[in-house]
Amino acid sequence: MIMINLLFILGLFVGSFLNVVILRLEKEEGGILAGRSHCPKCGKVLRWFELIPLVSFLIQGGRCRSCHKPISLQYPLVEFFTGLLFSLLYWKFGLTLRFGFLAVISSLLVILFVSDLRTQTIPDLIAYIGIGLALVYLLSTNYSLLATTLLSAALAGGFFALLVYISHETWMGKGDIKLGILTGLLLGFPQVLVALFLSFALGAFVGLILIITKKKTLKSQVPFGPFLITATFVTIFLGEKILQWYLGIII
Ligand SMILES: [Zn+2]
Repeated sequence: MIMINLLFILGLFVGSFLNVVILRLEKEEGGILAGRSHCPKCGKVLRWFELIPLVSFLIQGGRCRSCHKPISLQYPLVEFFTGLLFSLLYWKFGLTLRFGFLAVISSLLVILFVSDLRTQTIPDLIAYIGIGLALVYLLSTNYSLLATTLLSAALAGGFFALLVYISHETWMGKGDIKLGILTGLLLGFPQVLVALFLSFALGAFVGLILIITKKKTLKSQVPFGPFLITATFVTIFLGEKILQWYLGIII
């Protein structure tokens, strides 16, 4: 239990760092790369006690101490979910190489999730780092699964490439192809199919809610990355159970 809590706290700090990376990726190599963390609204440099993940946000009631403008919910949410993912990964895999690998990949996926929501783009750099790491991990550990895993990556990447091609990049973007390849490498076969199915089910469900609540119309662009990433996380934790349940139904 103590490890789960420690990893949650570690995840909070990693999440806090991911928030910084997300913003700096958007600003390219802008001048803030070397700068200290500051309030994006009034520019005031933050003191150490304003940088404690989650806790600072709660104590300050979600507002900047200096200008009292609200702080984006993105900060505590990214921190919390990164902490949650680290705990869940430990709970599922223990302190293993697979845990370490998935903790790094999950951090990258959190960046991709938020970047896609904020800017409707998947940062190439992060996607390629993820694909590279997944390949290295695959080649160094699960050599027996190499063929089926590469096939899964080709299948998911190819599927999204087809959708990008026939929709002229209106349903999906090129970033989704890279994300599909990463998902395939992470999950292998047949788990990749679970993630693909879940992502489309989730996308349809959320899309319907957005249309009913008039937040979006049928023609609106909704980034697909967050659905695929959510589905990938669900599959990492529950993929086997979902497959057993599904196979139990059709057999
Ligand atoms: Zn401020």
